[in-house]
Amino acid sequence: MAQAAGISDSVLKVGISQRGAERLKRGHVWVYRSDVVAEESIPPGSLITVCDSRGKVLGTALYSSSSQIAVRLISQDSVVDFSALLRQRIVDAITYRENIVHDTNAYRLIFSEADFLPGLIVDRYNDIVSLQILTQGMDATPVRNSLISTLTERLNPASIVERIDPKIRQLEQLPPRISGLLQGEKTSTIFTMNGVQFHFDALEGQKTGAFLDQRENYAAAAQYAHGEALDVFCYQGGFALHLAAKCSQVTGVDSSRPALEMADRNAALNRSLIERGLKGNEIEWIEANAFDLLKDYAAAGRQYDTIVLDPPAFAKTRRDLDAAIRGYKELNLRALKMLRPGGTLVTCSCSYHVSQADFLDMLGTAAVDAHRRIRLIELRGQAKDHPILLNVPETSYLKCIISTVSY
Ligand code: SAH
Repeated sequence: MAQAAGISDSVLKVGISQRGAERLKRGHVWVYRSDVVAEESIPPGSLITVCDSRGKVLGTALYSSSSQIAVRLISQDSVVDFSALLRQRIVDAITYRENIVHDTNAYRLIFSEADFLPGLIVDRYNDIVSLQILTQGMDATPVRNSLISTLTERLNPASIVERIDPKIRQLEQLPPRISGLLQGEKTSTIFTMNGVQFHFDALEGQKTGAFLDQRENYAAAAQYAHGEALDVFCYQGGFALHLAAKCSQVTGVDSSRPALEMADRNAALNRSLIERGLKGNEIEWIEANAFDLLKDYAAAGRQYDTIVLDPPAFAKTRRDLDAAIRGYKELNLRALKMLRPGGTLVTCSCSYHVSQADFLDMLGTAAVDAHRRIRLIELRGQAKDHPILLNVPETSYLKCIISTVSY
């Protein structure tokens, strides 16, 4: 990627169609390939000046030669020194978190477009920084170097780890890499959120480690949780551990054994918290397919006071929407049938393609079919360290509805 965003002096001009220009004028930051007019010989990952059909400059962007999102705007102005801009954006992202993140030493430091750094995700887990690069522009060596030096200077972490998504690198036509340390030697640590402790193993686990986007929802769920609780799709115990201080019994369900093993290690870290609430002093972890387990439990007449549903994204594309809604409905219907009157349902969807309106509609239909009346307590989204950029709807993806079953 020699010529990539390379912090070079000569910035290429790239024309886009009127439709593409309109999109940028409405505040979005992407231009699709079909709207790029002159795309011959633009090197992968280039820093480009975007112009409309009359040659008027619309801003500066990073170019991808392979993605359908060919152009990602990084500034509405011309950029003279990309390295300086990058540095400033990272510093701004860190400052933003200093203001809005509380009660945790684990949070998302940089959230791609929402921090005006498209293609870059950086998470902090106590003294370990974990980063993921998703585009050609951000993969350029000078960009990487600038990133590492700024993060080191500002945060002085014990180590910086890169997490690779091989599929994304392939789609972006980036050379293969493996997940590993970029700096330092430490690969595991313990982080704290809302007073609950978690193990973090930088080179294991799904996504970038833990589900930091649920941090504020964990605390909210704990506020309304009581009695016997079931955390379905519990992963490493995020919700279950938060519920433990408030409930008399907590059961976590997941199909992944490694996730449950980590959940159990996390429970051991939080002994005193768990012993404060739980009767048996233990969270029960069950390895099972959640759909089968809910079906069996509902059929057996099991009852709970609190149920959390936090499945993986069912709709990866718009085409999956109907099937996704059916999946959500099945889960929510069974959960609603099992909740005692006064019970709390915490139901989540991390599918971008399922809107909040779709999700509420699904829940309403499930309630009718379950013959239950439910009242909404809170309509929530992703934690504030995953900012939502207005006019870029793709930055908003997580829904978390907290409701109570009346009868
Ligand atoms: N609530 C968790 C995150 C859940 S991520 C937290 O806050 O940390 C989704 C989880 O669903 C993953 O752990 C995955 O292993 C699990 N999963 C996926 N399909 C499943 C299924 N059919 N049955 C049970 N668990 C499943």
